[in-house]
Amino acid sequence: MAAQETPTFKLVLVGDGGTGKTTFVKRHLTGEFEKKYIATLGVEVHPLDFTTNFGRIIFNTWDTAGQEKVGGLRDGYYINGQCGIIMFDVTSRITYKNVPNWHRDLVRVCENIPIVLCGNKIDIKERMVRPKAIDFHRKKSLQYYEISAKSNYNFEKPFLWLARKLTGHQNLEFVASPALTPPEAKVDANLMQQYIEELRNAALRPLPDEDDDL
Ligand code: GDP
Ligand code: MG
Repeated sequence: MAAQETPTFKLVLVGDGGTGKTTFVKRHLTGEFEKKYIATLGVEVHPLDFTTNFGRIIFNTWDTAGQEKVGGLRDGYYINGQCGIIMFDVTSRITYKNVPNWHRDLVRVCENIPIVLCGNKIDIKERMVRPKAIDFHRKKSLQYYEISAKSNYNFEKPFLWLARKLTGHQNLEFVASPALTPPEAKVDANLMQQYIEELRNAALRPLPDEDDDL
């Protein structure tokens, strides 16, 4: 039988420095083991594989070596991106304020790709970006998830949503869990439930007029 190519997609990971992008991508152990360094761009590419009811899927996840802290990212980082994750840190308001800039840079090169917004470090109790303040994803039709890279909380959610969008199979499920680094933090299940309810309530409110952003 001819070997079938595993469907593989370039995933562009962006967001302010310090939001936890590298921590997040390194949780996936085979991806970390098989990562490739692109010296010309100063980028690490982690092949994150998942097993679904439709077969395997690989996200070649691009992670910077910290260039986002000292300026923008070059177009080569975005070119041929097929899906994206924009990360901010729920304990840092400025990282959420910068989300529209990352979104603009991403869609300038990659028009019409599925994008997930992730609010990371949800394990930290001193949260500064409240669920009701998070509405950028609603304006731009992105999916939003709260995650904790350090505790593996919701690690698979962004990939599952992207996999469904990219394959067009809304009934796609992950049928095995990838090996992850053991959790180094814990999330409080009651608090997570409270955040979910706050997000649900926020989603019911009408969006403010575009002009209100100016
Ligand atoms: P990057 O610059 O976006 O790649 O961010 P890093 O992955 O280097 O993380 C920046 C800092 O945030 C590091 O000290 C991480 O240990 C910490 N960090 C990342 N994710 C989490 C998380 O989910 N929870 C907590 N408490 N700290 C995190
Ligand atoms: Mg990094």
